[in-house]
Amino acid sequence: MSTITFADIGVERRISEVLAQRGIEQPFPVQEMVIPRALEGEDLQVKAPTGSGKTLAFGLPLIQGIPATAQGPCALVLAPTRELATQITEELAPLARARGIRTATVVGGVDIVRQAKGAKTAQLVVATPGRLIDLVRRRLIDLRQVTSLVLDEADRMLDMGFMPQVNDIVALLTTERQTMLFSATLGPQVADLADKLTNRAVRLEASGDPAASAPIGERLDQSFVACAHSARTDTLLDLLRDEDGLTIVFCRTKRGAARLAEKLEGAGLSAGALHGDLTQRQRERALKSFAQGRTRILAATDVASRGIDLDDLQLVVNFDPPEDHDTYTHRVGRTARAGRSGRAVTLVAPDQAADVGRIAARLGLDEHWADTGYAQSGPRVVYRSRGRRGPTPRPAAASRPRPPAAAGGNRVRRGSRTA
Ligand code: ADP
Ligand code: MG
Repeated sequence: MSTITFADIGVERRISEVLAQRGIEQPFPVQEMVIPRALEGEDLQVKAPTGSGKTLAFGLPLIQGIPATAQGPCALVLAPTRELATQITEELAPLARARGIRTATVVGGVDIVRQAKGAKTAQLVVATPGRLIDLVRRRLIDLRQVTSLVLDEADRMLDMGFMPQVNDIVALLTTERQTMLFSATLGPQVADLADKLTNRAVRLEASGDPAASAPIGERLDQSFVACAHSARTDTLLDLLRDEDGLTIVFCRTKRGAARLAEKLEGAGLSAGALHGDLTQRQRERALKSFAQGRTRILAATDVASRGIDLDDLQLVVNFDPPEDHDTYTHRVGRTARAGRSGRAVTLVAPDQAADVGRIAARLGLDEHWADTGYAQSGPRVVYRSRGRRGPTPRPAAASRPRPPAAAGGNRVRRGSRTA
């Protein structure tokens, strides 16, 4: 295990003291790799696994690079969702404060005038692109002093959904700036765009080996469960009843997530929904209640697949399969973070077998995939529902069979978290 300290890689003592109060004493590999270079002002494109500590890897150098006398935004972080932007601010603000630097979050769905007041005087701004452009257009924020730009979840920020907005923002910044891109999935599909945005960036790839524990593949128990469309809800209920940690269940559509949360609640489980059709206040409430363990299950769309960091999240279920391999990586990466272990289960209907099989193969999970029965024999139903109230057979395909849940003791478990 490395004995390198934050001081060794150039982090100021008043900042490392705040980290130590949080139990963060030694840098993770990505931080060791990135921080010295970022402090030198280099442009970087960094690929490092989910939960490997990228936020501090960019956050600490950003904070230290801001002159103590600065007025207004000097450093800008762009993130794809309001929840992630808020989380980044929450993680960085106390560290920034140790140097007398103010931080602001700029995201949609909240009062723009009040938000602008905070953003105008903050030196570090974390934003989603749409709202930031709104502020710029209304002349409520001035980005001309920004000398450092970070795109977190950079591949997402450079895809079709965000690229036009990101371009608009970048056009307002000085070309003399430092630009750093971060993601767990930074592949060739965005290489050209990434190169255009950065200036002779150094490409870094960190291992997923925080705190010298096993890489994520070894800490994450992944399985694929063959399951007819009609049997999905019962299969899910069965999985959830055996689980007592926080569980996130990914759905393809907003309506799907909303409906699933209702069904789970109807079945006596403690569940909430998180998706883009909710008001910002509802989104905040849903995430907070989940983070605090008041709701144990969160049915979510991919709005929750990137960046969200919750300590006690132990199980990720893909109720609908992810669109592609990268989405799979981010969804399951909500668990097994920072050296901890976790579990991911993907439900696979017969007509989804081919697509999901390709994802499994790309991940090198052929063994787990074979468990579904699809791999050897082509699509077939290996699990059939006998109705919610009758005896439910275990999904034959689950890679880690569990004992049947005790009768009656498997419903709502409020406040069961230890932390
Ligand atoms: P990523 O952005 O790479 O997915 P995060 O930056 O969200 O990962 O970090 C994952 C978790 O690890 C967070 O809870 C964070 O506080 C914690 N963490 C980060 N760096 C360290 C460290 N050096 N030591 C201990 N925990 C850390
Ligand atoms: Mg992150």
